[in-house]
Amino acid sequence: MDLKEHIRAIPDFPSAGILFYDISPLLAHPGAWQATVDRLATIVEEHKPDVLAGIESRGFLVAAPLALKLNLGFVMVRKQGKLPGATIPYTYDLEYGSDTIEIQADAVEPGQKVFLLDDLLATGGTMNAAARLLRSAGAEVTGAACIIELTFLKGRDHLDMPIRTLLPYD
Ligand code: 5GP
Repeated sequence: MDLKEHIRAIPDFPSAGILFYDISPLLAHPGAWQATVDRLATIVEEHKPDVLAGIESRGFLVAAPLALKLNLGFVMVRKQGKLPGATIPYTYDLEYGSDTIEIQADAVEPGQKVFLLDDLLATGGTMNAAARLLRSAGAEVTGAACIIELTFLKGRDHLDMPIRTLLPYD
């Protein structure tokens, strides 16, 4: 099955000059979404993680079905201010300004093997920040996977863990 048939490229979103890859048609097609989850599950299983982490918000859509399928726990990496109780923050630089992501303070245990999931890898900034956050909480990040990779941005070159993606776009 060609999963790219279920990815829609939308010009000038969220701002002029950006070509946005929309995964909504993939989510709307049960067969294609099942195939996506199955392909990612094969990758995740190779890493034998203890827990999966999904990055807000489309990363949740990817991580949640995988966690159920593989009988693993699922941790939310969220934007600042969304999680209740004690949290661990990590602030990282953007092209203009900075952003902060968080996990709950008891989300991972020291030494736990965590595998990271998101929908798309662009510059790698988001994935890198999530990995650093999880490591700062004592977890070991065994790897990461995304559905889509914008290969021309070379985001994977900036990551310090193995990353696998299903659909490259150049
Ligand atoms: P990066 O930090 O690698 O530059 O950007 C990746 C993050 O931005 C991911 O969390 C992803 O959800 C979001 N993102 C950036 N561009 C796109 C896009 O074209 N399509 C989708 N679905 N997400 C995008």
